[in-house]
Amino acid sequence: MAGVLYLVPTPIGNLGDISPRMAQTLAAVDFIAAEDTRVTAKLLNHLDIQKPMVIYHRHNSRTGGQAVLNRLLAGENCALVTDAGTPAISDPGEELVALCAQNSVPVISIPGPCALVAALAASGLPTGRFTFEGFLAMNKKNRKNHLDALRNEERTMIFYEAPHKLPATLEDLTETFGPDRPIALCRELSKLHEEILRTTLGAAAAFYQENTPRGEFVLVVGGGQPVEEAAPTLEDGAQRVAALRAQGQSHRDAVRQAAKELGLSRSELYDQTKG
Ligand code: SAM
Repeated sequence: MAGVLYLVPTPIGNLGDISPRMAQTLAAVDFIAAEDTRVTAKLLNHLDIQKPMVIYHRHNSRTGGQAVLNRLLAGENCALVTDAGTPAISDPGEELVALCAQNSVPVISIPGPCALVAALAASGLPTGRFTFEGFLAMNKKNRKNHLDALRNEERTMIFYEAPHKLPATLEDLTETFGPDRPIALCRELSKLHEEILRTTLGAAAAFYQENTPRGEFVLVVGGGQPVEEAAPTLEDGAQRVAALRAQGQSHRDAVRQAAKELGLSRSELYDQTKG
């Protein structure tokens, strides 16, 4: 019988966020697949756990993933961890989970620290519907395409960003959504210098042109206002009637169908188009 792949989130800054289940799982599995074994070794030392580790990161996801899968298929249990936060969320793991799913290997996801969830919850922006956008691409064309696709987004949007790229990203977000759009910059979550700056894109961009960003950031950007569709007018109805008549319908039938389609008064549309 195949073993189990456990997805084990690790603290995003505060070791107090280690949960009993997280520690028990790391202690119980046969081996750990880690993004960086030096980082995970520190966590294991803190927990006083000794466990064999293999490297699984974005540059060896194919060969490393196959090696982990082979051991799972042979019946071993594995915990997948990254340097911080939840595996597979802007971190290695997605491909390994897909591989397990294709090979009927059970995957158990242990809930725990995840920067995007912590940031959204504290942002003060609507949480009912949101979209996680990860990191914007460095490549200009891909970045522009990504932002263009979000221009009319009405849901709250969440981005990850490295501090040295933050000023340029705030400029691009301001250009896309306008300077008045609300943003919460969630910095150093769960750490000593934790801070949530709730402001507008224009003000945030101006602030970080003057000040060097320090620490890790999640950007939570408010969604756009719904675009109201203009109600159909009698002129729209008349155009539709003309189109239906050109297809061979009688005036009466064309009016009936157009009025129904556009939610217009049949008699008013009839009067508008007679003669
Ligand atoms: N898998 C991780 C998770 O579950 O959040 C995310 C890993 S991703 C490579 C790293 C990014 O997450 C950082 O660039 C930053 O945007 C965000 N991040 C991680 N820790 C954070 C923290 N303590 N405060 C704010 N943002 C953080």
